Amino acid sequence: MFTYRLRAFSMFGFDIYVDASWILLAVLVVWTLTVGVFPVMAPGLAPATYWWMGIAGAIGLFASIVLHELGHALVARRYGMPIAGITLFIFGGVAEMRSEPPGPKAEFLMAGAGPLVSIALAVLFLVLSAAGPVAWVALTAYLGTINGILAAFNLIPAFPLDGGRMLRAALWGWKQDLRWATRVAAAAGNGFAILLIAWGVLGVVTGDFVGGMWRFLIGLFLRGAATTAYRQVLARESFAGAPVSRFMTRNPVTVDPELTLRHLVDDYFYRYRHKLFPVAREDGVPLGAVRTEHVAAVPREEWERRTVREVMEALGEANTIDPDADAFDALARMRLSGHSRLVVLEGDRLAGILALKDLLEFLALNLELEAGSGRPPARPRPGPPRQAGSAFRH
Ligand SMILES: [Zn+2]
Repeated sequence: MFTYRLRAFSMFGFDIYVDASWILLAVLVVWTLTVGVFPVMAPGLAPATYWWMGIAGAIGLFASIVLHELGHALVARRYGMPIAGITLFIFGGVAEMRSEPPGPKAEFLMAGAGPLVSIALAVLFLVLSAAGPVAWVALTAYLGTINGILAAFNLIPAFPLDGGRMLRAALWGWKQDLRWATRVAAAAGNGFAILLIAWGVLGVVTGDFVGGMWRFLIGLFLRGAATTAYRQVLARESFAGAPVSRFMTRNPVTVDPELTLRHLVDDYFYRYRHKLFPVAREDGVPLGAVRTEHVAAVPREEWERRTVREVMEALGEANTIDPDADAFDALARMRLSGHSRLVVLEGDRLAGILALKDLLEFLALNLELEAGSGRPPARPRPGPPRQAGSAFRH
């Protein structure tokens, strides 16, 4: 999700990252506080004081966001959900989970923990703002208010906002159907996002350009996130319990280790247009895998004499999968390693090849059927090995 991010520091064992887009937000916040907010809240101070207040306010805001996300992360860890880290980006913060919550109760508590932290911070800052110098009172009153707004905004029952996650958890617990619960919560999220976009457009048209643009962009972001989250759940539901063997191609084309790279390119890469081939001896024992990147790393004039054995990679965790493994785990492994093909190994025997393309085709079919008929799509069942073009069975 984040291409350009830096690890800023870590807290309670969680890595906190800063996305490049966040710098724009930091500048905007300091500017708005210094020029627009504090001169109104505490008039008559020196310009330099407003700058210091602006910087302190921005630091306080970002610390508040980190604490909100830490609230989510600590509860997630308590329920054994691995967290990939906390990232600050242009629309705030996000605690990235590596897996879905184990149950509705865990999700409800995890989603609620963030707004709870924000409410506690709001109360704390508002108490602190009761007395002190004018600048202090304005700064703490601002931080108290913004934490209150953060809590209120996040509690809106629009998935994937925290309130939407709590709604999904409640529906999930009620009907024990994660897919239905996600669909309802995501529809609420989508509706709210469209309202936000419309309100943003109205703002831009009526002269509130910055505020309107901001609502418009947040609406777009939420809309995308609601759709993605729903698709992810659908992918998980579609593939969960379906073994890799259901989707793999059996008897894949293998490459001899003594083949020259020139032959490999002409007779395999160009002919079959696969980006990875398993390398195997004549008796079928797999030795490794060769990918287009391996060949590309060798200068063209050496292709005639270098062999596959010299450039191939060993088979391991990143490029293989068990035929009985969950297809969803295979998808996760592909996403993590960036490989679009995995070698399916049964013990030390080559069982087949699993291609991302086949998994995605099945998923696209599922999405289409769901959209078209309103009926739940069929789940893959154990059955005869799949033939090309018949991944979906009714
Ligand atoms: Zn949150």
